[in-house]
Amino acid sequence: MNPVIFHPSPEALIKEEIQSLDFSQLLVLTDQNTLRDCYPLIEKSLPKHSVFTISPGEEFKTLKTCSEIWEKMTELALDRKALILNLGGGVLGDMGGFCASIYKRGIRFINMPTTLLSQVDASVGGKLGVDFQGFKNHLGVFNEPEVVLISSKFLRTLPKQELRSGFAEVIKHGLIQDRAYFDSLNFQNWDQNDWTSLISHSVEIKKQVVQEDPKELGLRKILNFGHTLGHALETFYLNGPKHLLHGEAIAAGMICEAWLSAEKTGLAKKELFEIAEKLIQVYGKIEIESSEWEAILELCLQDKKNEGKTILFSLLQSIGSCTYNIPVSRGEMTQALTYYTT
Ligand code: NAD
Ligand code: MG
Repeated sequence: MNPVIFHPSPEALIKEEIQSLDFSQLLVLTDQNTLRDCYPLIEKSLPKHSVFTISPGEEFKTLKTCSEIWEKMTELALDRKALILNLGGGVLGDMGGFCASIYKRGIRFINMPTTLLSQVDASVGGKLGVDFQGFKNHLGVFNEPEVVLISSKFLRTLPKQELRSGFAEVIKHGLIQDRAYFDSLNFQNWDQNDWTSLISHSVEIKKQVVQEDPKELGLRKILNFGHTLGHALETFYLNGPKHLLHGEAIAAGMICEAWLSAEKTGLAKKELFEIAEKLIQVYGKIEIESSEWEAILELCLQDKKNEGKTILFSLLQSIGSCTYNIPVSRGEMTQALTYYTT
């Protein structure tokens, strides 16, 4: 698995991890926001390089943007000893890594994630790719960056809503694997958490899970807790006024799936209430009209974890322990939405 290196200073990370590498050319990929807010923190320590900037946002995580990146790589005549540095959130890291993996059958890349979500989640596990025809991460490969460089200093410029979105994955890590970690999180003043220590702890949890099951044939599915209904909500509201960030959708998904856990795998009612209360404290509740339920449940059928027509969930047995491949009926999913909305 790729090494993940932490340091408070982004300049120090570049000096120690990039300057000593042997490469023919260095191309730094950014989006317009990370060009403005993150690139200045490393610019002076970088060796000679080129920069290519894409538009920010999930809607640009497409083959069309990949084409533009590949055109730039070709125009610069990058050879197979070239190195790509992906400076940005999960969109940029997934797509830049995918482009590097395909170009000339694969050149090396380094990820420097700049959002909380990409630091605690996309930084580990080798999943790369782009969206296609409305399906998230529909085209992609498993491949590892040379190294992942993480500095929480980047979070200073991250919009608060994006920070809160990433926090949902941190909460998930506690819920599925580590009760003490969950208990240590500050829900009341969520923005005052000690991000540096949370990031390294979350990376450790994700690493352990992925190491045991890199291709998601079994255990890795626990990382999908909250994501079956959560993804459906994210997709359903994608292009409308109720648009949700990933973590906002996952927070709602975790409440619904905690309810399913209490029904199906015996999560204690007391724990269910605690989870719901803490998540609502940070994220509030999204309004889901009952007329929207059918379409949302239909989207769950598209989930990558399903086998055939059965919808399989990863569910909690208790706070800190998660199991997977639990079949859930449509009726039960409707009840979970009822629990969430009342
Ligand atoms: P993102 O990359 O779109 O970043 C969110 C926003 O923050 C963007 O507008 C970006 O320009 C801006 N930004 C980034 N860093 C900033 C900074 N330091 N200061 C100011 N603005 C900054 O989204 P994300 O939430 O980082 O990642 C979501 C993507 O990650 C999704 O496409 C998802 O599929 C993917 N993902 C991948 C994995 C994986 O295992 N590979 C895991 C989780 C998520
Ligand atoms: Mg997620």
